[in-house]
Amino acid sequence: MILNLTLGVLKLMPFEIVIGLEVHAQLSTGSKIFCSCSTEFGAPPNTHVCPVCMGLPGVLPVLNKKVVDYAIRMGIATNCTISQHSVFARKNYFYPDLPKGYQISQYEEPLCENGSIEIEMDGHLKRIGITRIHIEEDAGKSVHAEEFVSKNETLVDLNRCGVPLIEIVSEPDMRSPREAYLYLSALKQILAYLEISDCNMEEGSLRCDANVSLRLTGAKALGVKTEVKNMNSFHGVEKALEYEIERQKEILLKEGKITQQTMLWNAREGKIVPMRSKEEAHDYRYFPEPDLVPVDVDRKWVDDIAHELPELPLQRKRRFIRQYSLPDYDAAVLTVSRHLANFYEESVKLYNDTKKLSNWVMGEMLRFLGERKLEIQDSLITPQNLVGLLQLVDRGTINTGTAKSIFDEMAETGKAPQKIVEEKGLAQVSDASELDAIVVEVIEAHPNELEKYRAGKENLISFFMGQVMKATRGKANPKLVNELLRKKLAEKRG
Ligand code: ADP
Ligand code: MG
Ligand code: ZN
Repeated sequence: MILNLTLGVLKLMPFEIVIGLEVHAQLSTGSKIFCSCSTEFGAPPNTHVCPVCMGLPGVLPVLNKKVVDYAIRMGIATNCTISQHSVFARKNYFYPDLPKGYQISQYEEPLCENGSIEIEMDGHLKRIGITRIHIEEDAGKSVHAEEFVSKNETLVDLNRCGVPLIEIVSEPDMRSPREAYLYLSALKQILAYLEISDCNMEEGSLRCDANVSLRLTGAKALGVKTEVKNMNSFHGVEKALEYEIERQKEILLKEGKITQQTMLWNAREGKIVPMRSKEEAHDYRYFPEPDLVPVDVDRKWVDDIAHELPELPLQRKRRFIRQYSLPDYDAAVLTVSRHLANFYEESVKLYNDTKKLSNWVMGEMLRFLGERKLEIQDSLITPQNLVGLLQLVDRGTINTGTAKSIFDEMAETGKAPQKIVEEKGLAQVSDASELDAIVVEVIEAHPNELEKYRAGKENLISFFMGQVMKATRGKANPKLVNELLRKKLAEKRG
């Protein structure tokens, strides 16, 4: 009884959630970080390798300058200080997919430090600190193909060895799984805008380890954390965190103490299992990499990169709201990718109803692209054609229904909308005498409906409207039909 009471009170005690994320992003350079092997994904196993990335004795790594360039871009975009002097370090551990027995990384002196990004949560801005961004090389991959697993064998593919990564480490600033999700989305959007990573999670270009702890609300000290690995989507991260938070809560309520552990998320079962505890934690025995000189970055290099940086997603969104008087929602959707935002801005130069244009881009266009799993830059849709379509409606050549019905053909073939309208004879019928005859025919063909209309069921007007549209294959000028119908029906009634 007393125990139950205590538990009840404990359950009411508010916990605060604390989350910090470590994100690995693969940089989209053509060649690896310390050799000239290709970074291309999906090549036959062990074909993109050389003595350097296979870690044979006696070879020397040579740093790919573009890797530093890309990492500086991300550092500037996340408001970091770019170190003028940073050093590589060896991180030692033994694993079959790491032939050298160490990974070249940065430890005590990373390239970028003390930054932050802003995320938007329910209309509020929140700043999430970035502790550091450092450069490192990727390891190879262990392949657990079924026919080998059954024989208790694992294969190793070294193509990924030496592919360049940046690791972005956040401060423990997030307070909910939702915030973690938004932070990851914001990071991904920035990486994509900078064109330094393809951010393809399925191919492992973006990976995230999530650290989470709980503390009593108001407490200053951080609680003991666990680290969750193995999530392969942002929603996976959110789900895994929710699960882990519940698990920690239960343990805190029962035993009062969390063990520092690394956990593995099993997406299929929606479960978390322990991988290793603190006692088994790796001691990486970091030491400075003797085969590489420190990276010295002069002011001019940083300034030049800063100069060429594109407008970043959040800034661009805010500008869209201001410049095109768009709602927050529209601006967010339109700036999701740099290419989509460019498409909108190209179109808006040709068409001044900014909101109508936004509706078409968010509606028909994104529906079409979504159905075909296409990005705008890989489609045949052009600003000229989309705007051409809207102008056909504005001029009364076609009605909105017809415009929607030819959208897909225009998008699929790249054909000008005027051409499609001509070829298919879809021009709107605005000839009053022609429509008048059809209206009369339709009314006469439906005496029952006419009867009901006369008895007061006025909303039957839309039934007649539909019939006229059907008779004209959707080409009738709806405004004119409406007028004609009202007139004729009023006559019949009177
Ligand atoms: P580790 O040495 O275990 O890798 P770090 O101090 O390097 O830990 O931090 C790794 C990540 O964990 C960072 O993103 C940091 O913000 C986060 N983190 C650190 N302590 C906590 C904590 N108590 N609760 C939640 N996240 C934390
Ligand atoms: Mg860590
Ligand atoms: Zn190589």
